[in-house]
Amino acid sequence: MQAARLESVTIHMKAAILASPDDISKCPLEIRDVPRPLLKPGQVLLRVSACGVCRTDLHIVEGELPPRCNEIIPGHQIVGEIADPGTTDLTSGTRVGVSWIGGVDGACWYCRHGMENLCDAPAFTGYSLNGGYAEYTIARADFTYSLENRLDDLQAAPLLCAGIIGFRSLRVAEVKHGERVGLFGFGASAHLAIAVLQAWNCEVYVSTRGASHRRLAASLGATWVGSDTERPPVKLDRAVTFAPSGDVVVTALASLRKGGVVAINAIHLDRIPEFDYDSLLWGERQIRSVTNMTRSDARDFLQIAADINLRPKTTVFSLDQVNDALAAIKNDSIDGAAVIVL
Ligand SMILES: [Zn+2]
Ligand SMILES: [Zn+2]
Repeated sequence: MQAARLESVTIHMKAAILASPDDISKCPLEIRDVPRPLLKPGQVLLRVSACGVCRTDLHIVEGELPPRCNEIIPGHQIVGEIADPGTTDLTSGTRVGVSWIGGVDGACWYCRHGMENLCDAPAFTGYSLNGGYAEYTIARADFTYSLENRLDDLQAAPLLCAGIIGFRSLRVAEVKHGERVGLFGFGASAHLAIAVLQAWNCEVYVSTRGASHRRLAASLGATWVGSDTERPPVKLDRAVTFAPSGDVVVTALASLRKGGVVAINAIHLDRIPEFDYDSLLWGERQIRSVTNMTRSDARDFLQIAADINLRPKTTVFSLDQVNDALAAIKNDSIDGAAVIVL
């Protein structure tokens, strides 16, 4: 009797569910009570305290990224407390972060060669796995990052995707301390990357469309700020492009000294226009793409963020307002990052 009664108890939680992707104005995310997820070995249960809203979530919710599951809980910049460590050696009550990469197979050629960001079979938080727009979520213990007390929930959430990817872009561009670095585009990733560049005593040159982004770049200490068609007044050692535009890549390339690197931080580019090899690429200039992230990118970046007290600008939304938060991202109607606070 007793056992039967225990089994019938299902603990519920509130979550934002995406069943059919649609324009965000149609409010495709539905708030529902659903069973709390059950742990598998190696996973931990997190009580979510905050979840950052990323532009990729908008692409998932609106169906620009094709659905991987019938229903999904989006959200991949999760700050939570371990409510149940399951079979793992993590401790209840520990505060951790979870990012876009929810797991890799560990077996493919890339994983075995220290390039897990290029894994052939990665799992994506909030896309192929349920994410953080919910009171609880589960995560692979080895894909959680412990968060120092110096980083509070609101501060940490936006760092967990935009921040880490921006940091990886600086690594791919091989930025060294004191160099001249161009940021082409100035959205969520770039406005976090500039703080790291300043900590490294770099001169930062920002080309971006949109007067508000130019003002933000200037207020965050950029050495030079120009429009997207303007070229920085000096030759750059490194450049990172954030816009999904091949023209911007060529502009960045044309701004480099010999031996310089352009890192493209974009999943998709409209096209790469034809350009002059002799003047733009010869001289050992390089164009490289930035793909996903490794766990060491995440850990190293979160350490630097804590050291320099990197504090993104945030606007808070409740879970019930999740559609509004995504609409705000789409309409560029808020300054800084949107964060769902539970
Ligand atoms: Zn993201
Ligand atoms: Zn792999």
